[in-house]
Amino acid sequence: MQELILLPKPLDQLTDPEIKRKACIGKIMTYTLKSLTNTYVTKGFEWLLPVALSQSTDPLWPDPGASIEKRIEVNIYDKLVRTTASMIVHKLVGCSTVYEKLFILSPNIRIEKAERAKTGKHIYEFTQLDFEIRNANSKDIFRLVEDTLCTLIKGLKVECKAELAALHRSDLKIPKAPFKVLDRTDLEAKHGIEWEARICREITEPVWIVNIPREFYDYEDFATGRWDNYDLFMPQYGEVLSGSRREFEYEKIYEKMEREQVRKENYSIILKMAKEGRLKPTAGAGMGMERIVGYITGVEHIGECQPFPRVPGNVHEL
Ligand code: ASP
Ligand code: MG
Repeated sequence: MQELILLPKPLDQLTDPEIKRKACIGKIMTYTLKSLTNTYVTKGFEWLLPVALSQSTDPLWPDPGASIEKRIEVNIYDKLVRTTASMIVHKLVGCSTVYEKLFILSPNIRIEKAERAKTGKHIYEFTQLDFEIRNANSKDIFRLVEDTLCTLIKGLKVECKAELAALHRSDLKIPKAPFKVLDRTDLEAKHGIEWEARICREITEPVWIVNIPREFYDYEDFATGRWDNYDLFMPQYGEVLSGSRREFEYEKIYEKMEREQVRKENYSIILKMAKEGRLKPTAGAGMGMERIVGYITGVEHIGECQPFPRVPGNVHEL
């Protein structure tokens, strides 16, 4: 049974104590953005500006975690464009051409089913720190993310000590890297389909969950059926990041699109570049900013980490 949770309120409806609490979360969000972007810039990543409308966006399919109620498509200049579901396609093209290492604070619009309001983990617009590296593998991504996360939490404990105390989060632990790696198939064999909830309760350190069947762009070994992808789970919380090593070979991408009935016309640049050998092997991931700050602050609903909450099923004036 899902517990009842309080939904985040719009700014104009907050009481004085709620305004103070919201301000603490705002400070922690600011520090988080500063620390994470600083780590990526320092490590030589290019910071790309986001786009909100494109012909091509993340299919979000097939993904066992997706629950999309509506896809937003609109005509501009006689062309059909979609609101950004994720900038995965832009990352693959950008990383294969100009930007060897890139990151974006990317808008992600995913109109989740209204019933997901009560999970506390879903919002219909969120911001993802999305990054991609040419010629990288999963291990490279693990070490990078572990480093950014440990640096962030270490810094927060000093720079946002008062805010963490006000939110009763002084006990926030600096994680111990490297994080453990668990295979989804083992978890399923052990815990059945409830593995996600079980693992969140059991772990005391962040863990990598690998080998999850999902979209065509994640790398799948056709010989073994193993996926070279990963989610990062935080203890007593859940997933805050997902990513993969990428497919870059034309035949594989084509076959997966056929298999999954993905509309090839929406991915013609990916297909063309792959055919011409211009799509490079890359790896990357995206970290949900409201999710990671939700973990840090211990809020009931990640919409509390947004100034203007985007709770599924709840539309306000702002
Ligand atoms: N941006 C991707 C997503 O939202 C994550 C990734 O890099 O694979 O699924
Ligand atoms: Mg994905």
